[in-house]
Amino acid sequence: MQTMWKKLLLLIILFFVTIEWIVPGILLQISQTGNDSQSKDAHYVKTYEQSRHRFLSYEAELKTHWKSVRHISNTIGKTNLSTDVLWADANQKKKNLVILTSGIHGIEGYVGSAMIDLFQKELASRLNPETTGIVYVHAVNPWGMKNFRRYNENNVDLNRNFIPDWNTFSLNSNRNYTELRSFFDSSTPMGNSTLHELGFLGSLAQVAATSGTGKIEKALLTGQYNDSKGVYYGGKKDEASTVFMKNLYEQVVGSDYQNIVHIDLHTGYGPKYQMSIFASSSEKMKQAEAEKAFNYPNVLMPDSKDFYVTSGDNTEYMYWLKKQQHVDKKIYSTTFEFGTMGNDTLSSIQSLKNTIDENRIFWNGSTSSTTKKIVQNRYLQMFYPTESKWRTKAEKDFRQAIKGILENRGVPLTN
Ligand SMILES: [Zn+2]
Repeated sequence: MQTMWKKLLLLIILFFVTIEWIVPGILLQISQTGNDSQSKDAHYVKTYEQSRHRFLSYEAELKTHWKSVRHISNTIGKTNLSTDVLWADANQKKKNLVILTSGIHGIEGYVGSAMIDLFQKELASRLNPETTGIVYVHAVNPWGMKNFRRYNENNVDLNRNFIPDWNTFSLNSNRNYTELRSFFDSSTPMGNSTLHELGFLGSLAQVAATSGTGKIEKALLTGQYNDSKGVYYGGKKDEASTVFMKNLYEQVVGSDYQNIVHIDLHTGYGPKYQMSIFASSSEKMKQAEAEKAFNYPNVLMPDSKDFYVTSGDNTEYMYWLKKQQHVDKKIYSTTFEFGTMGNDTLSSIQSLKNTIDENRIFWNGSTSSTTKKIVQNRYLQMFYPTESKWRTKAEKDFRQAIKGILENRGVPLTN
């Protein structure tokens, strides 16, 4: 009898050790995988400050080809952090303008910064400075970039905040989110990771069974305007960053340049190891046509299966501006999405889980430091992968896509 009790006690201890230590330890290990990046990945930096410092050095570099280069620095709200713009004007005739914007989704700004760095070092000098101008925007959402969050200092997803007119915009447009709200946010701290994983999968299975995963995805991606502590919150008015960027876009669209090409740089969505060009809903080409025209294998057009339209997107705002006063202008504004997770169902569930967990830790913290580390590692890998293979492929895709687009849009690169 005594040995049976001993065995039972041992089993109970083993059970708790597994839940408390072994499983969380394994999860922590996994959350760090892919962490093999070497210093040879020169375009990729670790902090907002390093990124900004390097960005500001382009001003002098640009001046060797462009006579007029302006630096505009805008401190965002009370953050003491800034969005920086370098605007180089064509020397003779203002014909083409190339604008690259980064970090509207904070943490995604590290890859954005790497791609602007690549453009500056490899491609800028191959543009014709007599007829072509450049605008670079570093960290549209500097607080999010510095703090490794997708949202800004007010928990607003800035790429759901570019609403042309808030007076006519319906804040209750996302009914799916409201219905599933209890699943997306929780007001308690996160605890042990083993139990959390099991609990999450349980409630996800329940929601998926009653609502379907499609509804969950729609509820999130399109943005929501009711839950200020929730994920993908689009705000209630223009954020400070949005006011600044709307004004900059007005200057861009209202400038003398007749041919404007805008690329907004993002990470996270789409197939892993294959950047997606995500078109605006105003684009008329079909997917197959666009892929041929840009000589690029993955272009999402309005006719594509996975295409979706979000409210308050900044590239859509660019087209809205064109429609208002500048219908005659040639404007192309698009999103580059460097996929990090993959686009199968399992990856979508993982992305969803990382997004919800990070938001819960941000607002409510965690009773376990291991759980917190796991969640933060996963979030970082989802938007700024450290894996060398991923980073090298991202550079290759960027080169191919931007060359294809510039050529197609009549902005040639010399050899
Ligand atoms: Zn993004």
